[in-house]
Amino acid sequence: MHVSEKLTILADAAKYDASCASSGSRRKNTPGGLGNAATSGICHSWSADGRCISLLKLLLSNDCLYDCAYCLSRRSNTIPRATFTPEEVVDLTINFYLRNYIEGLFLSSAVYDHPDTTMADMIEVCRVLRKKHQFNGYIHLKIIPGASSELVTEAGLLADRLSVNIELPSSQSLKQLAPQKSRKGILQPMQQIGEYARGYDRERKKSRHVPGFCPAGQSTQMIVGASTEHDLQILTLTQSLYQTMHLRRVYYSAYIAVNDAPDLPARTSAPPLIREHRLYQADWLLRFYHFQASEILSVKDPFLDERLDPKAAWALKNFDVFPLDINRASYEELLRVPGLGVISAKRIVATRRVAAIREQDLKKIGLVMKRAKYFLTINGRKLVDSVPAYPALVSAMCKVETASTRRLIRESRQLRLF
Ligand code: SF4
Repeated sequence: MHVSEKLTILADAAKYDASCASSGSRRKNTPGGLGNAATSGICHSWSADGRCISLLKLLLSNDCLYDCAYCLSRRSNTIPRATFTPEEVVDLTINFYLRNYIEGLFLSSAVYDHPDTTMADMIEVCRVLRKKHQFNGYIHLKIIPGASSELVTEAGLLADRLSVNIELPSSQSLKQLAPQKSRKGILQPMQQIGEYARGYDRERKKSRHVPGFCPAGQSTQMIVGASTEHDLQILTLTQSLYQTMHLRRVYYSAYIAVNDAPDLPARTSAPPLIREHRLYQADWLLRFYHFQASEILSVKDPFLDERLDPKAAWALKNFDVFPLDINRASYEELLRVPGLGVISAKRIVATRRVAAIREQDLKKIGLVMKRAKYFLTINGRKLVDSVPAYPALVSAMCKVETASTRRLIRESRQLRLF
């Protein structure tokens, strides 16, 4: 099969992986080298469903031995199959890079042989790019669950970012939908990557000759909507991945029904894009707003409200803590106000050191007034003439949220067409 045919099949098959975003690498080009992971703004472009488009995003193979129920490349599907040789991927990467089409490589693969053989071929691509072509561009490499720890170490010394897809939020769903994978086979390499990255970082502080290990950190992807777990389970797992495995990012991928299977949503069902969007917003609250999963959701109320931004939903459920005074609330309290982000909260705290904040300063600070106005006062004075009673307040906030969510879905559709 010609390389261009393989490219058509394997680039298309790679589109289901959401976890190739965000760089964070700062490596500059070296004399005689090729590429630069620092200045090219890798992952600043996004494809239809939130995937980064500035990387050459490929599978090494879609000829899988496994039979995960949710996956188009599963063994039991009759689809065109292809497998690149490592040399073909290297040539494509170099050619695309030199033509300025891409700034790096995202390489994943189906398990077409023993996990170690598949992983070794993927590593060979990175090794040739780095050692033979002195390629300094960004490389994101997927770890094949079940690959040996030696190969994971080798991968970490060559790639900028590694990711092991957790795929499903519980061992039970994994057993049901991806029986050849195990939670242990997924968590073990994640743990190893986290530990090694911290170990190499410590050593690099002592000597600059120590190589970097997975300098852009590790990420993972979770499929949302293929199995029955609720959002509380998903967010609790996410929180524990950030805390215990030191993941840089957890990506959520709204399940796209590509197969008929009794345990999966029907093929006609639409991907749960708003749910995915709300999970990203809640994830943001975990990472930057000091929220715990158990504050956002509860066992009694385990799904995110699709009508509302999770922070607005939290504020409405905890309306007794508001209004907060903009000149007196702590930084942590300000972070809980809908319409007030991390930058605005920092600006407020910095401005207050010099002088009290006045109403005319609010726009400059970057407050989204249509959200924040019900939750703040300035020196005891309300920002609205009257705060609506609770049900009306919920609808007022929903109206604001519905408009922004509609815009998001519209943009996502436009990108999909593009
Ligand atoms: S291992 Fe499972 S998810 Fe990965 S390519 Fe094979 S069938 Fe698909």
